[in-house]
Amino acid sequence: MKINLDSDNEWGHFIDPDSFQIVEITDEVPDRSFVVFKEREYIDDIDRTVIQTTYGIVDGNKLQPMNKRELSKLMSKACAKYIIDFEKLPPKIMVEKKLITDKPARLAFIMSNRDTFHLKIDKTALEGGNPYEIINSIMENQDFKTTMYDREEKWKIEYAKSSRAKCRKCGSNIEKDTVRIGEPHYFEDHLNYRWHHEKCIFLQRFEKENIKGLDLLEEEDRKRIEEILDS
Ligand SMILES: [Zn+2]
Repeated sequence: MKINLDSDNEWGHFIDPDSFQIVEITDEVPDRSFVVFKEREYIDDIDRTVIQTTYGIVDGNKLQPMNKRELSKLMSKACAKYIIDFEKLPPKIMVEKKLITDKPARLAFIMSNRDTFHLKIDKTALEGGNPYEIINSIMENQDFKTTMYDREEKWKIEYAKSSRAKCRKCGSNIEKDTVRIGEPHYFEDHLNYRWHHEKCIFLQRFEKENIKGLDLLEEEDRKRIEEILDS
């Protein structure tokens, strides 16, 4: 089907259900494709521009809209089929939670930072195969490094913008304008940070390249921290 875009305010991607390739929508979208479509809209009441996302699947000549959860279910099925057919994980698919024997595998399809789909691959989807065994053996064979736990997002260092955040280690508040160090994590597709006091984190475990924001610190703080990172 054709999707006509108002190029200033509408854009989107489709995902091929067989290959999991992500393609920008320009015009024609093939049958069975998963669609993630965005519209920018100005809302008077709140004086803000918001972005609305439509999820759906192309069914013949029409787009069948659905919510994200429904689309995630269809993606889970397509992902399981891909795993069976190719004995590997589709691109951009990561293992989201530790695999547990006899439990469905929890995977994530990370289209972008904003659009992550949570997939559940159970025994039925794998035609009776055990998700734990199948996905574990794929990970072993693929030199599989990309789990949710080491996604590209880096830890972040900055001065606390307020005194509200609590340190994840010691539980006390992190005072405004003091250095805080954040572990990236996702909540409903939004990137958030779990903050720590400088003293509450074992900084030696990081390489300089794995933390962003160092260059924005005052020289004194930056030098102190870089010295620890380099040690
Ligand atoms: Zn602390």
